[in-house]
Amino acid sequence: MGKSTSKYIALVGNPNAGKSSLFNALTGLKQKVGNFPGITVDKKTGSFYDHSKVKHKLIDLPGIYSLSPKSFDEEVSCKVLLHKKDENKPDLIILVLDASNLKRNLFLATQILDLKIPTILALNMQDVAQKSGIQSSTEALEAFLDVPVVAINAKLNEGTENIILNLHNARISNKNFYTYQTRFTPKLEEELADLFEEKLSYSTYKQSISAHRFYWLKEKRENIKKALIKHQLDLNAEEIHEISSRYKIIGQNFEEIQKQKTIGGPLALSAKLDTVLTHQKWGYLVMIFVFFIVFQAVFTIAAYPMDWIDSGMAWFSNWISNILPEGGITDLIRGGILAGISGVVVFVPQIMILFALVAILEESGYMARVSFLNDRLLRSIGMNGKRVVPLISGFACAVPAIMAARSIENWKERLITIMITPLMSCSARLPVYIFLVGFIVPDKTIFGFISIQGLFMLGLYLIGILLSIFVALTLQYLIKTEFKSNFILEMPIYRKPIWINVLSTSWSKSLTFITEAGKIILGISIVLWFLSSYGPKEEMEKVDNFYSSYSEIELNDSVQIQWQSEKLRASYAGQMGKLIEPAILPLGYDWKIGIAIIASFAAREVFVGTMSIIYSVDGEDNSISALQDKLRTEIHPATGKPLFGLATSMSLLMFYVVALQCVSTLAIVKRETNSWKWPLIQFFAFSGIAYVLSLLTYQILV
Ligand code: GDP
Ligand code: MG
Repeated sequence: MGKSTSKYIALVGNPNAGKSSLFNALTGLKQKVGNFPGITVDKKTGSFYDHSKVKHKLIDLPGIYSLSPKSFDEEVSCKVLLHKKDENKPDLIILVLDASNLKRNLFLATQILDLKIPTILALNMQDVAQKSGIQSSTEALEAFLDVPVVAINAKLNEGTENIILNLHNARISNKNFYTYQTRFTPKLEEELADLFEEKLSYSTYKQSISAHRFYWLKEKRENIKKALIKHQLDLNAEEIHEISSRYKIIGQNFEEIQKQKTIGGPLALSAKLDTVLTHQKWGYLVMIFVFFIVFQAVFTIAAYPMDWIDSGMAWFSNWISNILPEGGITDLIRGGILAGISGVVVFVPQIMILFALVAILEESGYMARVSFLNDRLLRSIGMNGKRVVPLISGFACAVPAIMAARSIENWKERLITIMITPLMSCSARLPVYIFLVGFIVPDKTIFGFISIQGLFMLGLYLIGILLSIFVALTLQYLIKTEFKSNFILEMPIYRKPIWINVLSTSWSKSLTFITEAGKIILGISIVLWFLSSYGPKEEMEKVDNFYSSYSEIELNDSVQIQWQSEKLRASYAGQMGKLIEPAILPLGYDWKIGIAIIASFAAREVFVGTMSIIYSVDGEDNSISALQDKLRTEIHPATGKPLFGLATSMSLLMFYVVALQCVSTLAIVKRETNSWKWPLIQFFAFSGIAYVLSLLTYQILV
């Protein structure tokens, strides 16, 4: 065996070919998940040692069907493979092929081999193929492709040792599977070579043909286009020519490589399952049932651990403030930092449950069927089937829902999904809805069992949904994109999910959330704490001086609450409430509601609590109805009529249906889109729409 040197090795292959399984088998625990620069695509790297104790670095590239990307994930892989100066440019490729879907996989294989990078082939999924009566010959494959072929079972970690043993045999194939030369004049070749600063090769050919698709060619794009137009090259015809030539060669050799003996096994079973699961009627029924389970799990099951976290954090924060001396720092720890941390941690159960379920749906192959079923329905309003899962879970909480939008390959569709998800009424709005609806709608039923309050509530959810369709259509029209979503839907066969993968996905998503979004949430929580605890010195002191003259006995609970209430009014948050009063008066709110709205921008669920403090309602017993009673006596500062009538309550409800009052959502949108642009657009647009709708509601009803 020759002495090997340390290599940078890339795992390449179709989605679901088994790359990640092989990656795990080779690297064990020595892996790292990062991000490709400037783009939210996970980058998994790791390392392993070969038999001469040489360490190699391995990267698990996102799956691709070809070198013509259809999504950002695929584009990242293409860049690594095509762009000469990419930082992840591999010295060696391990190409993973799925033996149960070999023809399609060979298309990519012939493209990769034309890149002339040393390659070794891992033939995976032989067990699946064999169960379906398909027999592949590694010798014939080796003869056809002219690179070493190693049969493996990535799932069971069989044969992976042979890959390591054969690494040094990886070579550049001597075959050329495709040649463009006949249609490229020497003059054009020369021009393109100048632009790329290297001799024209299959890799630079591919980049020229698809220049409009590749973000790294931004600067060269126009010149490339000019050169191609000058030489009258038809890009579409080029692609079609390439596809048909490659399939032709594959077809000519395929009989040698693979033989189908009998029909049966997993492929047949999958087909049988699909007659029900993708059925025009039954398919939808099963799907609705599956969604129901997902929603229930995120909504109901997650409520238990969330309660534990809530009371655990409350206990802890009480404990801390008891052992720490009274003062500003303790207040900061309790009201700012611990409140912020619990605002982060409380989302973890929902994120973990949703991602475990999404991983199961993905791994089992069912997600592809969901896409298929919804595609026909949603395409008519410009949507794609995979959006349904994030949207449905948005009714529980927008944060995990937005993270789940990653399963949508197409960037534009993913972005639109992210943008409209916060319009699904999440569970944090529920307390506000219950409070206000209870205030204006009688607690009666029609036909003896349909609650009017419930119907009213349903209406609020519907408003959010209708608005989201409107926003989606607008964005559809506004956002320009290079990618068209004419993707061919691959239907993987059904498989049993691997629990360790499910757990690790759900855990790593939670970690991402805690570290990435957590920072922002914590920061803003501290700012809001500051705004509501501090204020202009004079006014704050006035309040404190007044109440500190009370004796110990006089300072009973209700006086303390009054003290708190007056301090909140004097604080910066209180000042801000007064400052915005002219703007919110036309919506039917006074400055006190203004404070509650400002506080709600951290998280909507603080609305009721903040209202209780401002109106100094004793929070101990039955605070909700106490607050409701108190509110009935409030007077609108402009009209002199009772403040909390139908008009103001409806207007507030509209505001809470639409406005994006959730720091965590903004933080996660920032993380998922990798810029502040989209969360800010979302924030201002939704707050603007909320304002207008509330204004209309109030003015019509008053
Ligand atoms: P990737 O998309 O290329 O990263 O593919 P994964 O490594 O995630 O594998 C996709 C699915 O195929 C997983 O459920 C694996 O457990 C399964 N799998 C991988 N290799 C094999 C194999 O050789 N045989 C069988 N039966 N399943 C496999
Ligand atoms: Mg993978």
